[in-house]
Amino acid sequence: MPTRPRRRGRLGEGIVSPGRNGKPARPGPLSGTTVAGRRSRRYVQSRPHAPRGRECPVKENSGGGPTDIIWEITYACPLRCTHCYSESGRRPSRHLKGERLLELTDALIALRPRNVVLAGGEPLVVNGVLDIARRFTDAGVRTALYTSGWNVDRAKAEAILTTFQRVAVSLDGTTPEVHNRIRGRDRSFDRAMNALRFLDEASRELTAQGVAHGTFGIDCSVMRGNLDQLDEFCTRIAPLLPAMRTLVFGLTVPGGLASREEFAEHELLDDEQVARLTSRERTRHLRSLAPAGLSVMVDDNMRLLMRPDDIAANGVPPVLQVEPDGDVRAMSSYLGTVANVLRDAPEVIWERVAARCADPFVVEALGGVRTMRDWAAAARRLDQRFGTPADRARIAARTATDLPARLPARP
Ligand code: SF4
Repeated sequence: MPTRPRRRGRLGEGIVSPGRNGKPARPGPLSGTTVAGRRSRRYVQSRPHAPRGRECPVKENSGGGPTDIIWEITYACPLRCTHCYSESGRRPSRHLKGERLLELTDALIALRPRNVVLAGGEPLVVNGVLDIARRFTDAGVRTALYTSGWNVDRAKAEAILTTFQRVAVSLDGTTPEVHNRIRGRDRSFDRAMNALRFLDEASRELTAQGVAHGTFGIDCSVMRGNLDQLDEFCTRIAPLLPAMRTLVFGLTVPGGLASREEFAEHELLDDEQVARLTSRERTRHLRSLAPAGLSVMVDDNMRLLMRPDDIAANGVPPVLQVEPDGDVRAMSSYLGTVANVLRDAPEVIWERVAARCADPFVVEALGGVRTMRDWAAAARRLDQRFGTPADRARIAARTATDLPARLPARP
């Protein structure tokens, strides 16, 4: 899902990226698209907490509403990723159909965003998803698609590219062993690579024909199980896809299944690994390995933490995270909805989002985060506190059996 506007100076400019865990994340000016050792360590710095109950305004944007909307259009998904923050495929899909789907699309358009990301779940399982995207485009809203590539053939690749301004395919390993283990499905590597090859072929043909189309790229969620493959993304995978424009390495952060204690112990990077991954030297190195013309980025995803002092100082980013049926999450990484786009007026939605970010429980839980382990523990607390009874039942039923790699726990 997922994270940050990327300036490209072409189609897709400014569209947010999902960030980690295959999910869209908070974008906006607050998001550090690329790397930054300094930013990557923000959560381990000791900072004063925002005063409890302090007013926490939503950051204004020119239109007075969200600049970016991340719509998890369905929770249906053929994959079973070990780090999925939305637990798609393990819960009811909740996606709307027919008129109701169009109604929600129009309600989102009425918020006058600049960019909409269609994510999930797997958006391509939703009937009419391309029509939905065109409806946004016709209204002047730029669109991006995040997909696992599970079900993309050549014709669909072309349709996707001529519909969306940007397409990201999740690839979490350079080998079937690693990718399939993380993604929880045999053949998911082959299917993702096929999708990428089809997108590449379609992109080159459309360019040759002079047909306007979007760009495509790879989003990789970085964790311990694939950390040693990043160079290979640049040297072995990228050269297979000459028309590909972006390769994003996003740090896996503790949300949803990735907040499980076992996952945090075995798969989340430790602070030293995060610092190395997000250092300028590491990014420079990765870029030096990649084919010319490919934009390689490392995203620390730290904005997803939603540090109370950052929010107090800068306001809530103008990004709306919308669940399949229009429910609005207050904070994308943590459970808890505060409004519904079909029911509630925009100003009510924003007020509730801001109020949740300033809730004393939230401020206390997130203000104390110093390490990745702290962050995972805080995420679990917030999910318990603000999740629905169904969410809590799902959490209680989680198991450690689908951890991607039996790596030794951290010392
Ligand atoms: S592909 Fe499906 S299961 Fe995997 S992270 Fe994305 S939504 Fe979750």
